[in-house]
Order: sequence, then structure tokens, then C-alpha cells
Amino acid sequence: MKFGGTSVATLPRWQNILELVASRRAEGARVLVVVSALSGITDALKQLCAEGEKGKRNEAAKAIATRHDELLSHMQLAMPDTLAARLKDLAALADEGSSRLGELAWAAKVQAHGELLSSALGAAFLTHSGLATEWVDARDCLAAIALPNQNERTKLLSAMVDAKPDPALSARLAALGEVFITQGFIARESEGRTVLLGRGGSDTSASYFGALLKAQRVEIWTDVAGMFTANPRQVPGARLLQRLDYEEAQEIASTGAKVLHPRCLSPLREPRVPLLIKDTNRPELSGTHIGPELREEAPSIKAISTRKGITLVSMESVGMWQQVGFLADVFNQFKKHGLSVDLIGSAETNVTVSLDPTENLLDSDVLAALAGDLAKVCRVKVIAPCAAVTMVGRGMRSMLHRLHTVMAEFGQHRVHMISQSSNNLNFTFVVDENVVDDLLPQLHEQLVRTGAMRTDDASLFGPSWERLYGVASNGHDPAWWMDARPQLLKLAEERSPRYVYDIATVRERARSLREKLPVDRLLFAIKANSHPAILRALAEEGLGMECVSPGELQRVAETVPADTPRLFTPNFAPRSDYRDALNAGVLVTIDALHPMEQWVETFEGHDISVRVDLGRGLGHHDKVRTGGSTSKFGLPLDQLDAFVHLATARHARIVGLHAHLGSGVLDPSHWAEVYAQLASIAERIPTVEFLNIGGGLGVPSHPGERPLDLDAVGAALAEVKQVYPQYKLWMEPGRFLVAEAGVLLAKVTQLKGKGGWRYLGVDAGMHNLIRPALYDAWHEIVNLTRLHEPATAMYQVVGPICESGDVLGNDRRLPESREDDVILIATTGAYGQVMSSPYNLRGPAEEIVLD
Ligand code: ADP
Ligand code: ASP
Ligand code: MG
Repeated sequence: MKFGGTSVATLPRWQNILELVASRRAEGARVLVVVSALSGITDALKQLCAEGEKGKRNEAAKAIATRHDELLSHMQLAMPDTLAARLKDLAALADEGSSRLGELAWAAKVQAHGELLSSALGAAFLTHSGLATEWVDARDCLAAIALPNQNERTKLLSAMVDAKPDPALSARLAALGEVFITQGFIARESEGRTVLLGRGGSDTSASYFGALLKAQRVEIWTDVAGMFTANPRQVPGARLLQRLDYEEAQEIASTGAKVLHPRCLSPLREPRVPLLIKDTNRPELSGTHIGPELREEAPSIKAISTRKGITLVSMESVGMWQQVGFLADVFNQFKKHGLSVDLIGSAETNVTVSLDPTENLLDSDVLAALAGDLAKVCRVKVIAPCAAVTMVGRGMRSMLHRLHTVMAEFGQHRVHMISQSSNNLNFTFVVDENVVDDLLPQLHEQLVRTGAMRTDDASLFGPSWERLYGVASNGHDPAWWMDARPQLLKLAEERSPRYVYDIATVRERARSLREKLPVDRLLFAIKANSHPAILRALAEEGLGMECVSPGELQRVAETVPADTPRLFTPNFAPRSDYRDALNAGVLVTIDALHPMEQWVETFEGHDISVRVDLGRGLGHHDKVRTGGSTSKFGLPLDQLDAFVHLATARHARIVGLHAHLGSGVLDPSHWAEVYAQLASIAERIPTVEFLNIGGGLGVPSHPGERPLDLDAVGAALAEVKQVYPQYKLWMEPGRFLVAEAGVLLAKVTQLKGKGGWRYLGVDAGMHNLIRPALYDAWHEIVNLTRLHEPATAMYQVVGPICESGDVLGNDRRLPESREDDVILIATTGAYGQVMSSPYNLRGPAEEIVLD
């Protein structure tokens, strides 16, 4: 059991350690505790080493002694002799300075005291608390190996141990007792000098011991509940990785996840010792299990990490092409200077490599010396400080197609280098160091949103850090259908497939829009869901209705009060549609020159609105982008003057300007930008009274994806409204109001295994829900009958339609399912039933409303 710096820094933590060790003892295990220095102590010792003045060094040693004294007094312990002796040694080393031992050997010995002190203190506390604990000197157990190409610095400060199972050591310890405590971070080399294992190396000490003793398990106890999909301090929505195999965990650790020291997994691989990461303060959380096992799973990005302090060395040689041995020559220089190369990119006349500070003890002298030597064979350029951003996942190359929007995030930054690891486990971008903190949360969000990180697989991706640690929730309430489960099961058992709509959710979404956005008029785009109960509820909430066809206008006329505001926004509709709408007193939106030019008397004397094309489209899929010249919507801006001219001639008053760029937009600044653009255009048309900025408010589909920040949308809109107070603001949301309010219930029909694939057939298909086939839309799918059973099977969820494309969800992790189980397909209240078709004559799903 290894406890990190924060885990050993206070009395309450030590009480946790006591309990945890005692509980393992109770299971019959012999326990070896490996400790780090108290948090901050290794840094303080490094600081001491850098101090030229003896007086300052003595002061630093005293401050370190005081930290330990304080903890002792919290523990109500007298100073044990063992600790007193260590403090005396440290004081002597500080006083003496490096001259006798040599700079590096002295520094190693000084810094080793962090762990020597904490372990002495821990032994006293545990023993005093009734758990007899033997103090073991790690240096007597861990022998550093001499490696070729190792310079003095790496040999002393970043040593390695060849840890093979050692029955003699096990026997020696067994003879001593049951509970032991030792130091992380330190070992001894062949000449007997104390060496360090590199910063953060206590994890690796624990692994070395795990391998030497062929332990049942190595447990790393730290200040987070495991390895997350990104550093949780930077990405609070990062998800706990419940299990990983050695290779993936290794890759995540070595590409920047500080929670494990990069060297700590390889010693465990051969003896197949599993490793568990746990939170000392929250032992009830399940943590991350790392082991040899491989399970069937959907290809997925598992984590994204960043490493700062990366130095790139670019080597340019005009004569390199086909010159035998050029690479050998340059790499020889890296070897000579004891530098390990991480990433490599090469071109005809250039080789660029990166140096990683975690593997290299880089200082400017080493770099200057290297550059000097390299300059003899090529032109050298050192690019620093850079940062590497790495996505890790097994089978990276098969996921490239899912990464295009993630890649697009790099569009605004200088990318110095891209590298794809030859083990197919990672993909790395090297960028300027200063952009990486902002970039990381965005990239993580994109990975979740695009489904490249399959966070829907709950057996792998656990809860988010913010959920586990109760930091501000992501604003997402648990879905209503969880509470309504018994009722939904009954409904599906009566008949399936069935759509079920929860009116309370529809009303709640409407209220949140009214409350948070400075809108003057909200119109529901009824094409999303024209069920009468939904229209009535939204009219009661004060919304108007936006229609795109005579049929929709008629539905509205039949269901909601006559004074409900209505807007007709058709596209390529026949002349009669406009005429009928105007005759019925409905405001119409025109989005082409043709109607104004050709249908001379139709608009005469009427107020109208114009939909313009702002020249770009947005949205979650090509087929929902409604701006730009490849989309059929909107009047091109270069025809607007002609349009205004014609309208004036026909005495049609342009009272509104409208634009809608697409749907599924989750960028909160989007609508304010549209408003500002429309406002600047409207200034040329004095009759304009309102700006209709459309809808497109995104709804997250993947678990853990952040919902649209409505407060931010509102704030941005309020800001531009202040600049253009003369216009009323209209919006016409559709999907946002109804998507999450609806679910599609279906029943399992048949199961089939085919090669490595397992198909789960359900009685709903693309005739009920076309979005997966049409837009590659992702809908959460759960087995409602077995909602609380472990999701151990991996299914392709398919419908009964005679089309290969009749797939509702690929690679879904679900409980082992049986015929007649009820399957729920979530977020289907928008563009579900309304887009259904009679194809195959299976008939439509019935619609049920919960009010
Ligand atoms: P210890 O002192 O216990 O060894 P560390 O500070 O070395 O602890 O490692 C734990 C820290 O690692 C976490 O608090 C977190 O800030 C950081 N970290 C970085 N990346 C990750 C990640 N992907 N998952 C979990 N923690 C991470
Ligand atoms: N105390 C050492 C460090 O801070 C080793 C460790 O804690 O893992 O780097
Ligand atoms: Mg650590």
C-alpha cells in the first residue's frame, strides 16, 4: 500500500491509513506500507540543496524538522528516537554541504530524507496505535542497476531497479512480522550510495516491492479516486476510468497523468501483479483497477493528457536525403548527453524530436552542449517551451474518422509536430505551452460530444470527478424517466413501440428559456414535435408557434388559442402556401428573391420577415447545417438590396430579419454573434422591428456531456441587446424544448451472434426513429427492465426494417438482455415521431403523454 504526499501529511490521513492497513490485515494479508515524504517536503529539500549559504541551509533543515514536530504533536506522540536520529542526519548534511560527497550524491542523500523522516514517523504512529509495524530501509531491498549510457545525474537522481521476484526478501520480511513501513523514492546503487527514482517515484518503489514480493496487489493511495480521462483539477467533468490494462495505463501515465509515475507499471507486467488506485480520504470509492485482463469493448479514446516543459530539437540538413547514417549520427549525440528522445518526426531534410522533462533531467547547460555538438552535423533549432497533448486509446488508427471535430480545435493554434505512436495507442500534438491549459477542457468536451470517448460505457467510464466530489454538478438532473420507470415498463408491456412524452419536462425547458434569455418572443418550431398536448402546454407557457407548412399551420389552428402568435417560415414552398397564410393573418418569412419578383400582388400591403443567409452553417451534422451556399435556405446577402427594393415597390413592410445557421449548437456565444450580425444588417432597413435569431440550442446526447450554458447565452445576448436596444429579440427553439422530454420504448425481439458481433433486435426501427441513420445521431439506449444490472454485454442495437442502415446504436454496453426486455431510447422527443415513415408498413409507434 503506497501513500502519497498529501495522504501522509496530516493526523486524520494517518488515522485513515491505520484503518486501511488494519482492514487488509484483517483479510489475512501481510502489508508493506510505502510512503512518500509529507507533501511539500521534497520541494523544500530540493530548495535546501540549491542554497549556496550554509546558514540558509540550516534554516531550511530546521523548518523541515518543525513540520514533522507539528505532526507529531497532533498525534500526541513524543519524538521517537528513530525520527530524532534522521533529523540529526539531515541537519548534519545541511551543515556540511556537498563538498565531501559530491554535488549529486549529496543532493540525493539530502532529498532521500523526506521519505526517511515520514516513514520513521509513520512507524511510530502505527505502532503506538496498536498496529505493530516494522520499519524497513528501502535501500536494503532495492538495488539500482547500472545502465549503459547513464550519466552521473540520471544514475543518482533517476535510477532504476531490476525488480524480479525475490523469495529471500519475502522470507526475510516474513520472519520479522506482519506489517512493515518503508520509503518510496529511494534505492541504493552498487557503490552503496543513496539514489533517487525521479520525482514522483514513490509509486515506482511500491511497484518494485510488489514485483519483488510477488504481492497479491499494489495499492496506490492518493488524493483522487483513480486515473481519470483527464487531469480532474483541470477538467472537472473528467470521468473515472474504472479499469485499464497495463499498456493503456502505462501510456496515460507516461503522457502526463501525474497520478502514476510513468515507470511504475512495467515492473508489474511480467509477474502480473494488479494495481489499484484509491483515494485515501474516500476509501469507499471504487478506484481504478489496472491489470493484465483485456475485455471486449468498443474502440474508444480513454484519456487525454498534457505534458508541459517539452523541448523540441529541430535538425535541418540539406544533405540528409539518402545519406546513410545521418540519423545514427544525430541520435548518437542525444545518447552522449544522456537524453532520451520521446517523439520523432522526419522529413527529407529535417528531423525533429522532442525531449520530455519527466525522463530527462534537462537543464540549459545540457541543452547548450547538445546543440553545440549537433551543430557539427546539421543546423539546429531548439523550440521551447512546448506542450504535448496526447490522446490515448487502444486501436487509435481505427478511430480517426471520429476525431475530425477534435482536430479542428487545433485549427487556431500553431502545431509544431504531430505523432502517432507505433503501438497504435496514442496520438500526440505538440503546441506552444501557453495554449494548452485552455485547450485541454475543450478537447475533452469534444471527445465526449463526438463519441470518440465512449463515456456511455459505464463499465469502463465511471462517474465524473465533479460528481464524485460534489463540486458543482454539471446542471443535469437525473433523467425523468428514471423515476417513471415502473410506469414506463407497464406502458411498454401493454404495447410497443411507444413514444412517451413528459409534459413537465417540456414546461421546465420553456420556463428556463424565458427566465434566462432576454427574449421578447419565443416561438416553438413545431416541426420538432407537433403533438397537440405539447403545443397546448407550450402555448400555456406563453410561447408562439413557428410553422413550415400548411399542415403545421392547421395543426396549430386546431389546438391552441387563436391569439397565440404564429410565424410561417416555409422554404421553396408554392405560392399558394404564402397566400393562404397571409389570408389567415399569419406573419410570413420569405427566404428567396423569387416570391418577391414573380408573385407581384401576393405580399402587397403586408408585413413580412426575411430570412437571410449569413454565409456560414453550424451544427452537429452536415445535414442540419442551414447556412452557407451549399444549403438551400436563406436569401444570400448580395441579393438583399434587390429584395428591399422590390418589397418597397410592392408596399410590403420588412418588419423582421431572420437567420438560423443550424442545430445542435453548444457554443454559448453563437446567438449573440447572429444577433449582432443581423442588427448591423437591419440598420440599413428602417422598418425592421425584430430580429429572429432562430433556434439551434444544443441538447447533449452523451452522458457526461455538458449542457448548453443558458446563463452564458443570456449574458452574451444581453450585452449585444444593449448596443441595439431598438430591436425586439425573437427566437424559435424546437429541439431544445422537447428532445429530453421524450423517450422511445421498444421490446427486445431476437438476439443473434455473428462472428464477434452480437445483435440485439428491438421492435422499434428506423421507421420510428431515423436520426441515427440520417444524421449518425447518438441516442442513449438502456435496458429498462434490467436498469440496475451490470452492463457486461456489448450489442449492436438494431430494428426490424429491411435495411442494413436500420441500426439504433452501435457498440452499446448493456446488461445481458433477453427477449421481451424493455429497451428505452432516450432524448427522442424531438424529430422522432414527426420524422417517422410508413416504410415496410410496420405502422407508427403510439404516442403517450404523461402530464
Ligand atoms: P501523490 O502525492 O499521492 O503521489 P500526485 O500529486 O503525485 O499524488 O498525483 C495525484 C494527482 O495527479 C491528482 O491530484 C491530479 O491532480 C493529478 N492528475 C493528473 N492527471 C490525472 C489523471 N488523468 N487522473 C487522475 N489524476 C491526475
Ligand atoms: N517525494 C517524492 C516527490 O515528491 C516522491 C513521491 O512523492 O512520489 O517527488
Ligand atoms: Mg505521485
